[in-house]
Amino acid sequence: MNTLELAAVTKSFPGQRALDNVDFTVAKGEIHALLGHNGSGKSTLIKIMSGFYLPDGGPASYSVAGHSMKFGDGVGVGRAGVRFIHQDIGLLDDLTVLENLRLGSGTYDAGLLGRIRWGSERAAAVARLNDLGLDHIDPDAVVGRLSAVERTEVAIARALDVESAISVLVLDEATAALPSGQVEHLFALVRRLVARGVGVVYVTHRLEEVLAIADRVTVLRDGEVVLRSQVADLTQQSLARVIAGMDVGPV
Ligand code: ADP
Ligand code: MG
Repeated sequence: MNTLELAAVTKSFPGQRALDNVDFTVAKGEIHALLGHNGSGKSTLIKIMSGFYLPDGGPASYSVAGHSMKFGDGVGVGRAGVRFIHQDIGLLDDLTVLENLRLGSGTYDAGLLGRIRWGSERAAAVARLNDLGLDHIDPDAVVGRLSAVERTEVAIARALDVESAISVLVLDEATAALPSGQVEHLFALVRRLVARGVGVVYVTHRLEEVLAIADRVTVLRDGEVVLRSQVADLTQQSLARVIAGMDVGPV
C-alpha cells in the first residue's frame, strides 16, 4: 500500500510548464527514484510535496498514510511524518553535531543553547546517532569540519527527530556533493531506514545510483513522466536511452 500519493500535479512558472500532470507514489519500505536531467522538474515536484510551492489549479491531489494533505501545508506534511533533505542540507557549520541535532528542524535561537538540559539532551542525541548506525560521528565535532557524507548523515539524523513517526524520507540530490567513495555510506544509512519501513523518495540525475539503490524509478523529461518501471526490469542502456529522449525500445 502506498504511504504517499501525489496525483495529477501540474506546475507552471512564468513562460514555462515545469510539471505536466505528474503522478508519484511511494510505498512503505520502498525506494522510489525520481530521475531526470537538470531542469526536468524533480525539485519542483519535491517542493510541492513539502508545501513550498502550490501546484496549478486543477484536479491535483495529495495524501500521506491515507490522510488527505492540503497543498502548501508544510506543517501538516511534517506532522504526517514526511521529512526532506534538500540539496542545500542546511546545517549550521559553526556548531557541533549535538548542537545541530538539538536545534532540529525548528527555529534557531542561539540563546537557548546555553539553557538546555544538556545531560539528557546529549544522551538522547548520542542515542539517536547510535541507533542510526552513525556512532563513527563524534558528537562534539564542529559540523563544518566533518566529511561531506558525515554532514549528510547528520542532516538525516536531524530530520529524523521523532523517528518512530517518520513515514517518508525525501532525499533531493543527496549525493551531489559527495566524493564517489562516500556514496555507499549514505546508501547503507538509507537501507537501514528502509528496513524499518520508511519509504524513500530518492531524487537524482545519476542513473547508476538508481540502478544501485532504487526499487522503482520514475523518469521525468521536461516536466513529463516518460517512464515508470521496477528497476529490476531495466538495464543501464535502456534507462540511458529514456533519459536521453530516444525511444524506449526494448527494456
Ligand atoms: P530539476 O530539479 O529536475 O533540476 P527544477 O524542478 O529545479 O528541475 O526545475 C524545473 C524547471 O522549472 C527548470 O526549467 C527551472 O528553470 C524552472 N524553475 C524552477 N523553479 C523556478 C522558479 N522559482 N521560477 C521560475 N522557474 C523555475
Ligand atoms: Mg533539482
